[in-house]
This record gives sequence, structure tokens and C-alpha cells, in this order.
Amino acid sequence: MNNDIDLRSDTVTLPTPAMREAMAKAPLGDDVYGEDPSINALEELAAKKVGKQAGLFVPSGTMGNLVAMLSHCQRGDEIILGKRAHTFLYEGGGISTLGSVHSAQVWEQPDGSLALDDIQAAIRPDDVHAPRTRLVALENTHNRCGGTFQTPAYVASVGEFAHARGLKVHIDGARIFNAAVAQGVDVKELTGPVDSVTFCLSKGLCAPVGSVLCGSREFIAEARRWRKHLGGGMRQAGVLAAAGIVALNEMVERLAEDHARARRLAGALAIHPQLVLDPGSPATNMLFINLAEDVKMDAAQVAEKLSARGVLVGVTGKRRFRLVLHYWISDADVEKTAAVFGEVLA
Ligand SMILES: *Cc1c(COP(=O)(O)O)cnc(C)c1O
Repeated sequence: MNNDIDLRSDTVTLPTPAMREAMAKAPLGDDVYGEDPSINALEELAAKKVGKQAGLFVPSGTMGNLVAMLSHCQRGDEIILGKRAHTFLYEGGGISTLGSVHSAQVWEQPDGSLALDDIQAAIRPDDVHAPRTRLVALENTHNRCGGTFQTPAYVASVGEFAHARGLKVHIDGARIFNAAVAQGVDVKELTGPVDSVTFCLSKGLCAPVGSVLCGSREFIAEARRWRKHLGGGMRQAGVLAAAGIVALNEMVERLAEDHARARRLAGALAIHPQLVLDPGSPATNMLFINLAEDVKMDAAQVAEKLSARGVLVGVTGKRRFRLVLHYWISDADVEKTAAVFGEVLA
């Protein structure tokens, strides 16, 4: 990693020394034959962590969500999801282009949840004119809603509501461990009420590559077919899974440090009147900041000046930034970031 303070995303995290060592020593085999001991161990560990029967290692969160949705749905089915869901905005419309699955988009509440009334209103009648509603997809934490998290009680309410209507529930839990740690709850409380969950090893957990999809044994068997179908059957990928095992064993609880640094950074930036923090931000490891009206520069111009001083931030709107805390950002980096913002906006 160079010396820049890189706050663009937690996807920029590099593997830890413990991961590099585990990768070098990982026992390997052909995973398409089910013979990679490291992948088998990761899938078992992941499933256990989230309280499901089985897991499936996939190259990315995007593929995890896609194989989940293709496994739950048939051609012509419909998924209820948020208008600002990662799956809707940033996954290439894969459910439609590759799965012939339709989406019913619902506006999220400010905390990233979908209101039960809105889910109810989106459920289709049994009618030849309509696609068949099959699945509700939640996102926890919710990226575009500010890294907000949903509670165990909310997830349970959606599970109960959906199951009573014959629908399945999937969670895009790219950062579900952030959601659990932020609330001080076991992640199982967030995943128990739903049918499937995807989470990323390669974000705040620092593994170089990969996500895991978890669900029932039967569901994962179906997902394994779809993963192969999409070209995601990997061979000696245990080198990657080995890092994932370290991620799950060593990197989950420490996410609390990223949350604490996010709050510290928010506090340090709040002293600059040129910056306006989203109310309630940060809920987890990301903060969203807006430029005050009287600032002449736009976000891209400010980001360029920050970058010239060694601070990289995400630009998510004309006057809006996203800053994401992660393992490779120290307390000193937080202080420097706040100071550099001050210089650039002075
Ligand atoms: C990062 C992310 C994903 C998956 O992204 P990949 O880059 O494909 O691993 C899915 N959902 C959310 C909310 C994300 O932030």
C-alpha cells in the first residue's frame, strides 16, 4: 500500500500478514470436485457463524447475490428490493439479464429498511398479468443509505411477514458483521430469520478476494449449480479461502475499532462549518458528508485537492462524499484527514 490515506472504500484493504501466511500454507485441492480442504473449512465455518446448514464460496458479493436470487427464483418471478439496493443499482441488472427475473423496487426508509406496508403493497396478485412475487431482498448494512444497520427485531418481522405469504427472504449482508458488531449482537440474530445471506470477506474483513453465500443444504446445492453455470467454479482457490478463514476468526470483533474511528473522524470534521454531516452518520464504518452551500468548489474539485495531499475519498454526488474506515486507517490518519480537509476548504 502506498502512503495515501485511502478512505474511498473498505474494498481497498490488503490482506494482513496472518492472511499471507495462511495463504502460503493452505492445503489445496480441486474445489469443483469438492476436494479443496481450505474451501470446505471456510464454507463450514461461515455457515456455522451465521447459523445456516451450508455455505458456498464465491468470487464476489455480486455473484453471491446473483446465484442466491437465481436459486430462489424461476424465470418470470419478481424480487421485492430497495430502490437504492446494491443489487438494484450496482450489479449490472444481472437478475434480469442473466436470470429473466424482474424487480419490484420499493423506497427504503432512511435507515435502509423496507417498511412492511411497502412490501405488502408490492406483492403481486395471483393473476396472469403479473409476475410472481417470490423473494424479498434486504441489505444490511445498507450502503447507499449511509452504512445504516437493521436490527434483529426488524429482520425477524420481515422473515415472519414474508414466510406467512409464501415468500423467501435473502439478505445482501456484504457488511453484515459490521451490523452485528455495531449493535453488539450475535450475527445469527440477523441471519436466523431469513433463508439466505451473502457476506463479503474482502471488505472490512481484509481478505483479498471472495464472499460466502449461506443457506439450507438444499438451497446451497442449487446455488452450487448456478455458480458453476456462471463460471464461478474455481479450482485450487483454497489459497483465497485460507485468508477468508483468518478474516472470520480474527477480523470480526475488531470492526468496532473502525466504527469508533468513524465517529472520531465525524467529530473532527464537524468543526469545519463548510462540511455538513448526514444526521445520525456514522452508524457503522462509513460517513457521508456534504459540502455546505457557500463552498464554491464541488465535491470532485475538493476530492482532487485532498488527493494531492494524500487523502483519497469517495465522491458520491455533486456535493457529497463517502469516507470509509477500515483496518489500514489509524488514529493518526483520522487526525491528518481532518486537518487536510481544513487546509483544502480554508
Ligand atoms: C460491495 C457490496 C456488494 C458486492 O460487491 P462485490 O464487489 O461484487 O464483492 C454487494 N452488496 C453491497 C451492499 C456491497 O457494498
